Amino acid sequence: MPDDNDRKQKEITGFSTGANPTGRVLISILFDKALRFFLKRSQREDPVDRAVDYKTSAKDVIEACGVPHPEVDLILVDGQSVRFGYQIRADSRVEVFPYSPGHDPASRLQERGIEAFVADGHLGKLARDLRLLGIDVLYDNTAADRDLLMIIRMTGRALLSRDRRLLMHGAIKNGFFPRSQQPLEQTVEVIRRFELSSKLAPFTRCLRCNGILNPAPKESVLGRLQPLTKLYYNDFSQCSLCGQTYWRGSHIEKLQKRVRALCNQ
Ligand SMILES: [Zn+2]
Repeated sequence: MPDDNDRKQKEITGFSTGANPTGRVLISILFDKALRFFLKRSQREDPVDRAVDYKTSAKDVIEACGVPHPEVDLILVDGQSVRFGYQIRADSRVEVFPYSPGHDPASRLQERGIEAFVADGHLGKLARDLRLLGIDVLYDNTAADRDLLMIIRMTGRALLSRDRRLLMHGAIKNGFFPRSQQPLEQTVEVIRRFELSSKLAPFTRCLRCNGILNPAPKESVLGRLQPLTKLYYNDFSQCSLCGQTYWRGSHIEKLQKRVRALCNQ
């Protein structure tokens, strides 16, 4: 039984540690080190103590701390795994973990096997690098947030974005916030996060429009070639969507070097 001093203290602070359906509850949230990047600097070392409305969902509590839900793969409340909709109770100790290949299938929150993406308008170089490796990425630098959300609702693609508010949107089920600002490092991060290393197929996708490239007989693309290209090259491929022609020319060497750099990370 709480003594009078306890009760008085709770009245003063306005918090309840009991089952008061109209009150606020105090909880402690410990984020895994890999997620502390999203927290305010002052909260990165210790568990975050928060007062939340009674019956607030785990998802809302975690996002209120700055961590978008697509970054969360496991939530433990007092040692038990819970889903995003779990309603947090008083005096709970919440632990939050990022994606990890090893999480138990019954407890993990993120879908596996994702191979199709949409990148927001600031990630053009990342989209190009992923396409270079054969990964399916929609990208349009004029797309507004509502366009991205519509594509995601229609196709179920995962969102790649450094806009954490957008990643927190209820329509987003799968997504990733690249930590690095460098396209090469971002590409490696995406390959690791979605376990794509065995799925890479360099030079099979159009860098301009994401279409699939098909081998093209030289005669069929002659009209599109510069005189020297006609003279020196024989292996061509063409985009099935936009018709862009590719050949194994000197410009490919630079791209091959980049592919090697990406694959060796
Ligand atoms: Zn194309």
